[in-house]
Amino acid sequence: MATAEERLVEWLRDAHAMEEQAEKMLRDTASRIENYPELKARLESHASETHRQAELLEGCLKRRGASASTMKDLTGKLTALGQGLSGMFVTDEVVKASMASYTFEHMEIAAYRSLIATAEAAGDHETKQICQQILAEEEAMASWMGENISSITRRYLDLDAQHGTTAKH
Ligand code: MG
Ligand code: FE
Repeated sequence: MATAEERLVEWLRDAHAMEEQAEKMLRDTASRIENYPELKARLESHASETHRQAELLEGCLKRRGASASTMKDLTGKLTALGQGLSGMFVTDEVVKASMASYTFEHMEIAAYRSLIATAEAAGDHETKQICQQILAEEEAMASWMGENISSITRRYLDLDAQHGTTAKH
């Protein structure tokens, strides 16, 4: 049996590992995009937000007397997820990466909603507030992706029709 306090530390560590992986994925994806400057800029700005989120989570763990050092198996699991997403990158990379980003942001939204409830149960108001602040950034990124997937796809189809497999994306 674990207490809410114990689960909070465990799930803050999971979130911290998730953000470290997210920053890597965002920067990798942004660096591979050439013809979608707005998408590239949004991914880069969210990568910076994500870096800050990892630091905030580290602060929450420290206040609770825990460290952010992640267990080997968790890092392995998340690396596998990252490889799964980056493995989708083929000629239609930009469309698949946009879909993967949209999905990933919603996974983060679910994680922070769960963390907020856990922080509340553990009586950790500062952690709750920080998770709410991070949640708002994830929701903004998810909304942006949701609003832009159609136009990204249309641009891809145009470039593909003009240049076929030689098109840079
Ligand atoms: Mg995040
Ligand atoms: Fe995010």
